[in-house]
Amino acid sequence: MAKEKVLVVGGGFGGVKAALELCEDEHFEITLLSDDSALRYYPTLYHTATGGKRANSSIPFSTIFAGKKVQLKKGTATTLDRKAKTITTADGIVYDYDVLIIGLGVVTNYFGIPGLPEYSYSIKSQAEVARFKAHLHEQLISDHQPDLNYVIVGAGPTGIELAGALPDYLKHIMKNHGLPQRKVHIDIIEAVPRLLPRLPRDTSRMVGRQLKRLGIKVYLGSAVQGQTADELTVNGKPVRSHTVVWTAGVTNHPFFSENHFVIMGRGKVAVDAYLQSEENIFVIGDNANTPFSGLAQTALHDGHFVAINLRRRANGKKFKGYTVKEPITVIPAGPRWAAVVWGGMRLYGWLGYTLREAADLVGFHDLEPWDKATKQWLTEFEQEDGCDVCATAAIS
Ligand SMILES: Cc1cc2nc3c(=O)[nH]c(=O)nc-3n(C[C@H](O)[C@H](O)[C@H](O)COP(=O)(O)OP(=O)(O)OC[C@H]3O[C@@H](n4cnc5c(N)ncnc54)[C@H](O)[C@@H]3O)c2cc1C
Repeated sequence: MAKEKVLVVGGGFGGVKAALELCEDEHFEITLLSDDSALRYYPTLYHTATGGKRANSSIPFSTIFAGKKVQLKKGTATTLDRKAKTITTADGIVYDYDVLIIGLGVVTNYFGIPGLPEYSYSIKSQAEVARFKAHLHEQLISDHQPDLNYVIVGAGPTGIELAGALPDYLKHIMKNHGLPQRKVHIDIIEAVPRLLPRLPRDTSRMVGRQLKRLGIKVYLGSAVQGQTADELTVNGKPVRSHTVVWTAGVTNHPFFSENHFVIMGRGKVAVDAYLQSEENIFVIGDNANTPFSGLAQTALHDGHFVAINLRRRANGKKFKGYTVKEPITVIPAGPRWAAVVWGGMRLYGWLGYTLREAADLVGFHDLEPWDKATKQWLTEFEQEDGCDVCATAAIS
């Protein structure tokens, strides 16, 4: 029996889940094409950015797919040829498919604001996280003092997670660098009048109070207009800072507009009840126009859903229709504190933090067996700075 060639493009939550669930089935031959050789575990990237280990937020495909029948290919997909049923990469390699599953995630959007691409930091990839972390240490080495202001743009989950972890981390590295302890100024700048605007108002209020307790100032209704090497312009006024982190905007991957997909609101790809953009091309996770697109939980759900349907079809059954999975939102904000919104239920503080820890373990287990997932989860309790001064301080 000829196997169906499934080409999964994008090794994120959705693509990896689909490949994992299809590779055990003899009906399919699976190839995973991604521009990275590891899965970025985004929910813990803020932790890596504030002293945590890289391994805590990066799972190599060689670990996830050890012993599995998945061909792993590294490359950047650029062109879809619908007639020939092929995907071509930036370096000209052509992959053919019978079924295509695409989950490429989103890209940073600076909304054309001048200076941000050059001068701001971001924490969307390991390279960006490493650049940000190195900057924090280099600044202490060159200036012998912290920045005048650490500015995080965007009061969404990423901005809040990062801001919440920053005070303790800065305190810790200032000590390692032999600098006197002093108050650091951390600001969150948000254009809309409420932090976490997609969550209930009482959650915004509780998180706002927690940030205040941590000494973080939140400026709502404040629009960033530009950045230079030394300052940010907010509502027409300058804010001195050499550490601006942009977490305020993403947009759908350009692959879809460049390859003539039908684009809907929020730039997402139009999909049918089976997550197909057209016959045998499935679009999943952040890329698909579904109600909870933009969350790892949704991407995992989508990868699982498409895998189930392909297995049904291979066994002579009809596709099932897509059902949404309401996500659980967990937002850490400072040491041992998190906000949880789960349907009508809310949890704040230590209990929320405990749930978040459990959610990370379960999240790793979605991609790895329990022993590997536990090992991965335990990396959370180890530090990694990549700074010689801090390494010496740790030994002495
Ligand atoms: C900092 C941060 C924190 C987050 N925290 C949470 C959280 O706590 N909970 C939650 O539910 N969600 C969270 N999210 C959102 C979540 O990470 C995404 O919704 C999820 O990763 C989407 O999965 P995906 O498979 O659609 O895309 P991704 O996981 O983004 O995967 C896309 C993959 O495609 C690859 N790729 C990109 N372009 C190409 C190309 N041209 N060719 C080949 N490969 C390519 C990328 O390298 C990547 O491996 C967070 C996001 C960020 C940025």
